[in-house]
Amino acid sequence: MFVTTPKFIQALFPSLIWRKETQDKRIWLTFDDGPSPNVTPWILSVLKKEKIKATFFLVGQQIEKFPELAGAIIKDGHTIANHSYSHKNGWLTNKEKYLEDIESCQALMPNNKLFRPPYGKITKGQISVLKEKYKIILWDVLSYDFKQNTSPKIVQENIIKNTTAGSIIVLHNNKASFKNIYPILAKVIQQLKKEGYVFSTTW
Ligand SMILES: [Zn+2]
Repeated sequence: MFVTTPKFIQALFPSLIWRKETQDKRIWLTFDDGPSPNVTPWILSVLKKEKIKATFFLVGQQIEKFPELAGAIIKDGHTIANHSYSHKNGWLTNKEKYLEDIESCQALMPNNKLFRPPYGKITKGQISVLKEKYKIILWDVLSYDFKQNTSPKIVQENIIKNTTAGSIIVLHNNKASFKNIYPILAKVIQQLKKEGYVFSTTW
C-alpha cells in the first residue's frame, strides 16, 4: 500500500497529472465523490473557517440527487470537477461506455476542464481520448481515509508526512470516510499552514 504514488507509476502515465510544478509551497487539496448530505456541509464549514479553497471531484448522479449541495460548493468559491456520472471502474468498462459516463457528468458542469478517474483506474485507450478534452488529475498523496480499518490519526500522519510543495492530496466527500476525517481535517489544514503551505485551486 502506497501513500505516495511511486515515481515509476507516475512515469508510466506521463499524460496524467500526479503533482504540480511549483516554485513556492503551494498544494492542492481535493475531495472525491459526493456531494453527500451532512458530509459536504461539514467539509464546507471547516474550509470556510480555515479560509482555504479546495477542488471537489463530484459524481454526476450525486449532483442530480443533491443539487443544492453542489450549488453550496460553488457558492463558497471552491472548484468542482468531473469524477464521472456513476463512478465506473475504467479497467472494467469499455471505452465507449466509460466516455459516455464521463460526458453525462460533464453535462452538469459544462465549463469544467478537469477529470479524475474513479479508483484512479483508467486505461491507456481511455486516456488517449480524454486527454484531448480534460486535464486528468490523479494525486501524489492518498490519505486512505476510505479504509475502514484505519484511524483518523493514521490518515493525519499519511498527509502530514508525505505532503511536499506541489502535492495533490486526496480526501473523500462521502459517508464511509467521514469518521476518519471528522476528528482531523481542521488539524491537518492548520498543521500544513503552519509548515508554510498555501492551498491552491489553480490547475
Ligand atoms: Zn471516487
